[in-house]
Amino acid sequence: MKTWKLWENEKINQEEARLLRRIADEIPIPFDEEGKKDIQTLIDAFVGRDDAAGLAAPQIGISKRIVAFRNGNFNDRPPIQKDDGTYDVLVNPRITQIRGDREKTREACLSCPDISADVVRATSIKVKAYNEKGEKINKRYTGFLARVVQHELDHLDGKLIVDRGTTIYYPKEKALFFDKIFQDE
Ligand SMILES: [Zn+2]
Repeated sequence: MKTWKLWENEKINQEEARLLRRIADEIPIPFDEEGKKDIQTLIDAFVGRDDAAGLAAPQIGISKRIVAFRNGNFNDRPPIQKDDGTYDVLVNPRITQIRGDREKTREACLSCPDISADVVRATSIKVKAYNEKGEKINKRYTGFLARVVQHELDHLDGKLIVDRGTTIYYPKEKALFFDKIFQDE
């Protein structure tokens, strides 16, 4: 499945950017048929991937509050298998507690090709959400996983690493394009 991107091949994707920048809609509780379908579509888009720590529904063109992400194996990133317990799905997630230190680490995003950015995030968060079966869950995430969850949840509010980044890195050979984008902001 195609990933929606702010830009591609040194061209801004106006239409995709508009959806990526939108505040995504909640899924009705209990899930309706459309909500169930959208959750399944996101899971199917995430299963088999080895190029991402997580995926948010807006990144596949669905402006709904659903995210899927690896709950480990961040370094070797074996392809995700369906129902193998290596990923979490959160529907209508809400951060209820932020704790611990803030840490700055370089992040990349499938929706912002060619760049990376230093982003400061909390190292411990608590999240209230529904899982893919519609059950209420309450979970604490720490360390790098807490970072991944915050990154994915940002997508639901139309926020990307280019907005959070304290420093943005891009290849010299594409400076003409990116200098212009990041100076205009
Ligand atoms: Zn992202």
